[in-house]
Amino acid sequence: MDSSQFRDAAHTAIEDIVKYYDTIQDRPVLPSVSPGYLKPLLPSSPPQEGESWPAIQADLEKHIMPGLTHWQSPKYMAFFPCNSSFPGMLGEMYSSAFNAAAFNWICSPAVTELETIVMDWVAKLLGLPDVYLSDGEGGGIIQGTASEVIVTAVVAARERILRRRLKDMEEGEEKWDKMAEMRGKLVAMGSEHAHSSTHKAAIIAGTRFRNVPAPRDTGFRVTGQALRTAIKECRDKGLEPFFFTATIGSTATCAVDDLEAIAEVAKENPDVWIHVDAAYAGSALICPEYQHLCSSLASFDSFNFNLHKWLLVNFDCSAFFIKKRRDLIDTFSITPSYLRNEFSDRGLVTDYRDWQIPLGRRFRSLKVWFVLRTYGVEGLRRFIRNHITLGEYFHGLLLTRKDLFTVITGPAFALTTFTINPARPRRISSSAANRPDPMHEAYTNDFTTDAEAQYQVEVNRVTKEVYEKVNSQGEFWITATMVGGVYL
Ligand code: PLP
Repeated sequence: MDSSQFRDAAHTAIEDIVKYYDTIQDRPVLPSVSPGYLKPLLPSSPPQEGESWPAIQADLEKHIMPGLTHWQSPKYMAFFPCNSSFPGMLGEMYSSAFNAAAFNWICSPAVTELETIVMDWVAKLLGLPDVYLSDGEGGGIIQGTASEVIVTAVVAARERILRRRLKDMEEGEEKWDKMAEMRGKLVAMGSEHAHSSTHKAAIIAGTRFRNVPAPRDTGFRVTGQALRTAIKECRDKGLEPFFFTATIGSTATCAVDDLEAIAEVAKENPDVWIHVDAAYAGSALICPEYQHLCSSLASFDSFNFNLHKWLLVNFDCSAFFIKKRRDLIDTFSITPSYLRNEFSDRGLVTDYRDWQIPLGRRFRSLKVWFVLRTYGVEGLRRFIRNHITLGEYFHGLLLTRKDLFTVITGPAFALTTFTINPARPRRISSSAANRPDPMHEAYTNDFTTDAEAQYQVEVNRVTKEVYEKVNSQGEFWITATMVGGVYL
């Protein structure tokens, strides 16, 4: 494909994409294909000779489109959103046109410098404490996903504690042995409702993992006391707790851990790296009414949220902010001679390869820059507030049919979780009946009696049945999960 063929192909591709977006609401969200549908439709090996763009594009429509799930549809209600926008797409287009693996500043100075600037913009937009800005000891970097960020943070935390504990030992075999021994005793922790990425990161980092309880009567939040107890229990067993993920907006219910109390625990335990994962809900922090959640962040080590979830930046784009960038650089900077250059050697520049696991990196800041400039702060706030209002509206609708639905949590950051009431009326204990907050309706099922436990089994069964029925029709797509024994 030469440049003039590219121009023609790109025009037809853009036309196609615009048509797709203009009609997306008319399609069912879920495809109706069966597993393995594609293999019989495509040749078993690539073509010997190149094919024309119209032939390729026709197969996209014929074979790929029927197997797509339409995440950008207004009828998509599953998991969390994965927003897309036209300026975000333009950013992706230019990024692939420039196609640089810009790991060091010298590899393409604008790639690094724009990223530093837009990450500072984003930090200010969220009202993060100044310690996360690049003109101090901190800064932001864009990584692919929250899971990638959390692996990076866990590995950096692991190496930080080893450096601290073994700082007086000389380099050599004995120190390596000691490090290996210590790694087996390290414990990463996360709420029982934290995203599975912290557990996965612990597996990758070769450390232990344990849950910190966040039961119903705390609203599924980790309290300072629960974390303190978990740390003590680890130490009592001769283990070394070194990492904890606190969450703003847990995956199942959008709970926010008790950050102020956890900040106190952080002060008592300066060797425990505390990371705040706000993968979905972090985008709401651009609205001043949510920024009170940011005040404790100065006591923690790092923070991430996904602009690709709820801030109109196309996948992939997870912002990772760190209070002391040295903690990353001391772990990830390895400089063989082929990576050296005078700007890095003189300490004049940021080399983001030292803040991450891979070497090469994409020009992701371009799409963030395009999105921030196209919508402006006020445009993005309107977008988030509109979703929050829709979430409240949905919650209100559920409350108008208390005979059918029980709200379990929310609305929190536009997420409401609920169950379906079985036909049989439930038994409500007198103390539970007096609780006015819909958040607490779930607690009517405290399972203190067999009858309550049995009732919950029935709720779970009927909720699952309705959930499966909705998804089997394909028009909408919703997600179910199990929290504290409740299928919601
Ligand atoms: N953290 C939280 C709170 C999440 O809800 C999710 C996914 O929904 C993740 C992390 C993982 O996100 P990613 O796909 O970016 O790794």
